[in-house]
Amino acid sequence: MKIAFIGLGRMGSGMARNLIRAGHELTVYNRTAEKARAIEGARVAEWPGGACRGVEAAISMLADDAAVEAVVFGENGIAAGLEPGSTHISSSTISTALARRLAAVHQSRKQGYLSAPVFGRPEAAQAKELVVAPAGPRELIERHEPVFKSIGRVTFVAGSEPWQANAVKLCGNFMIATMLETFGEAFATLRKAGVDPHLFLEIVNSLFQSPVYAGYGRAVADEKFEPAGFALKLGLKDIRLALAAAEECASPMPIASLVRDHFVSAMAHGQGELDWSSIARVSARNSGIV
Ligand code: NAP
Repeated sequence: MKIAFIGLGRMGSGMARNLIRAGHELTVYNRTAEKARAIEGARVAEWPGGACRGVEAAISMLADDAAVEAVVFGENGIAAGLEPGSTHISSSTISTALARRLAAVHQSRKQGYLSAPVFGRPEAAQAKELVVAPAGPRELIERHEPVFKSIGRVTFVAGSEPWQANAVKLCGNFMIATMLETFGEAFATLRKAGVDPHLFLEIVNSLFQSPVYAGYGRAVADEKFEPAGFALKLGLKDIRLALAAAEECASPMPIASLVRDHFVSAMAHGQGELDWSSIARVSARNSGIV
C-alpha cells in the first residue's frame, strides 16, 4: 500500500520501519525533520498534507491531542492533504472526544477514519510486537488489515465507532498505571520492612505471570527510570484522558483519581521526562525512603 506516516517519535519510528520492511511504500513527515530523514527507504515530505497526497492511508503517531489537532487540522495538515476515499488511521493515545471530532471531520471530507491505538513500548514497536486495537466501520478495518499486521503481533477489533478504541486504550493504560502505583506502594513498604524488592518480585511473577508485571516490576525494583520508554508526562496525559472518558460515560474511576494526583506530584518533583514507572518514587517519598 502507499502510506503516509506522520510522527516519528519513540513509537512511530519503529512502526514506520516495519511498514517499509513489509513492502509498503512510505512517505514520512515529522515536525523535527531529522527524525524523518533517519527512516531509510521512505520519501520525506515537508508538510503532513504533502505526505498524504496520493496515498491510500495516512497513519499518525503523535504525542497528544494538541499535536494531533495541529497536524490534522492545521495549514497543510492531514485533513487538507488526504484525498477522498483515503483513510486516516490515528494510533496516538488521544481523548475519546477528539476521536469523535476526527471521525466527523474526515466524514465531511469523504475520507475514512479509524482509531487504531497500540499497546507495547518502543522496543515492541521495533520488534513488530505491538497489540493493535482498531475500531471503526468493519469495511475500513478489513481494508487496512495489512497495515495492522505489519506493525503488530495481534489485532483486536475494539468496536464499530472509532472512539471506542480510544476508550479501550485509556482503560488499558489506567490498569498499567495502577499496577505501577501498587509496585511503588508495595516496594516502599517492603524496603521499610527489610525485604528485598527483587525477592518479592519473584513471588509476584510466579503469581501474575505477565510480561507487563515482569518488565515494569524489574524497572521499579532496579529504580531504572532512564531512558524513558514512555515519558511520565504522557502517562499523566493518559490518566487525565481516562478520567474524562469515564466522566462522559458517568462511570466513576476513584483509583484513577488517586493515581492522577501521584503523577502530578511526580511532575512537581521534576520527573516529567523520566519513565512513567518512576511514579513509584512518590510512594518512596511518602514513606520517607527518599
Ligand atoms: P514521543 O517519542 O514523544 O513522540 C511524539 C511525536 O509527536 C514526535 O514525532 C513529535 O515530534 C510529535 N509532536 C509532538 N507535539 C507536536 C506538535 N505540536 N506538532 C507536531 N508534532 C508533534 O512519544 P511516543 O512515546 O512515540 O508516543 C507517541 C504516542 O503513542 C503518544 O500518544 C503515546 O501516548 C502513545 N504510546 C506510547 C507508548 C510508549 O511506550 N512510548 C506506547 C503506546 C502508545 P518531534 O519529534 O518534532 O518532537
